[in-house]
Amino acid sequence: MTNETGWNLDNSYARLPEKFFTSTNPTPVRSPELIILNESLADSLGLDVKSLNSEDGVAVFAGNEIPQGASPLAQAYAGHQFGHFNMLGDGRAILLGEQVLPEGGRVDIQLKGPGRTPYSRGGDGRAALGPMLREYIISEAMHGLGIPTTRSLAVVTTGETVIRETGLPGAIMTRVASSHLRVGTFQFAAKWGTIEELRTLADYAIERHFPDIEADESRYLSLLQEVVKRQAELIAQWQLVGFIHGVMNTDNMTISGETIDYGPCAFMDAYDPATVFSSIDRQGRYAYGNQPVIGGWNLARFAESLLPLLHDDEDQAVTLAQDKISVFNDLYHSNWLAGMRAKLGIFNEETQDEALINGILSMMKKHGADYTNTFRALTFDKKEDTVLFGTPEFAQWQELWQARLGRQKESKESSNQLMQNSNPAVIPRNHRVEEALEAAVEKEDYSVMERLLDVLANPYAHCEKQAEYAALPESTKPYRTFCGT
Ligand code: AMP
Ligand code: MG
Ligand code: MG
Repeated sequence: MTNETGWNLDNSYARLPEKFFTSTNPTPVRSPELIILNESLADSLGLDVKSLNSEDGVAVFAGNEIPQGASPLAQAYAGHQFGHFNMLGDGRAILLGEQVLPEGGRVDIQLKGPGRTPYSRGGDGRAALGPMLREYIISEAMHGLGIPTTRSLAVVTTGETVIRETGLPGAIMTRVASSHLRVGTFQFAAKWGTIEELRTLADYAIERHFPDIEADESRYLSLLQEVVKRQAELIAQWQLVGFIHGVMNTDNMTISGETIDYGPCAFMDAYDPATVFSSIDRQGRYAYGNQPVIGGWNLARFAESLLPLLHDDEDQAVTLAQDKISVFNDLYHSNWLAGMRAKLGIFNEETQDEALINGILSMMKKHGADYTNTFRALTFDKKEDTVLFGTPEFAQWQELWQARLGRQKESKESSNQLMQNSNPAVIPRNHRVEEALEAAVEKEDYSVMERLLDVLANPYAHCEKQAEYAALPESTKPYRTFCGT
């Protein structure tokens, strides 16, 4: 096909040793239809929106046409799923290639749901419309919140039915990521590759994500350090907005530091560290409060896979790796603390700050207060919810907080501005996401989703149109999420 669309694909991943992937084409679908296109993202990728909307453009999103320069492949990787090590790989995803950006750099263009691959095992390689739109909404919400994430370029329906518990409309999402390298990619290389293949992978990750460490004397140790740093920042950001990933398996943790794999994720309403939404996470391994611990656990698996590159002597390699891993907790904690100070309008540091932060959090827990809306109420001094704000305990805390704000040189106005920039007015509330999906999937009405996306794009705008999206659900029925549909 011609390339007026602006596809400018390279295939550096396909130049890695063969073991890391299998060349695979998408399986064509019956009658693709474009459901949603991320026009601003398309623009920033150097793609022509009009042409993407055309029949030829949509054919690419459906896997019916391969864009010029693409070299489609499924990636091989392993992973610890709920603690158990497995060989995995892209069972329902195909990488078309890397779009070389107008301003330099490259991003992966991946189809999710394009049919079976050699790694599909028993699966059909397909995806349903609801979950693909859900990923679209939540990943774009994360982007709006300023949190590193894969993006969603488009969702098409296939005109085919996927069989789950019932028949569902089939769909394919086009995902954009700085790469799809995962902790699990390194686990795969360490387990089934030669040391040269492992080194090639590590060099590739460095070149793609950490060019600054290329010349370091111990570049693989630097790689470990950089990934630890990015994940410490990322998971702190999740905690600060109440995001629960839901399936933090090692194959779902990126080397780039982007959030990936929006399956059973959801945002917490009432503050409670034990919050779990995923129907399969019965032990609460991936509960909100456990995410930092799991982050550290996953990074230890990453470090293990790098050991042969760190030192010829295994004991020394382990010591070096442990050194880097041990930093994670402190790094995570200081990122979290800095973010929490900002949520309370605090610029400078005092040792008592953590107690102040924990004070409001434990009151939220005790009274089942909404996490997002409590910070929003503090920001706008609209403490209508008397359950928490009406207590003597809160009055006491408020006095300490106000006194604390008085002990910094910044004005009340800049302190309040900091709070507005750190406390989102809206998050993708579960009932709002469900309402948008229901209208889309059952009534082919995409307007509910479009309005939601519009509001979620600017969560720190604090404007009138956000108000209805900040409200809590009427139902108190526990919310449940599912993977793999
Ligand atoms: P996830 O829990 O989303 O990280 O997925 C775990 C693994 O299951 C990955 O290797 C996916 O590619 C694979 N997988 C999920 N759904 C399907 C499907 N419908 N067909 C084939 N493979 C799948
Ligand atoms: Mg995954
Ligand atoms: Mg998934």
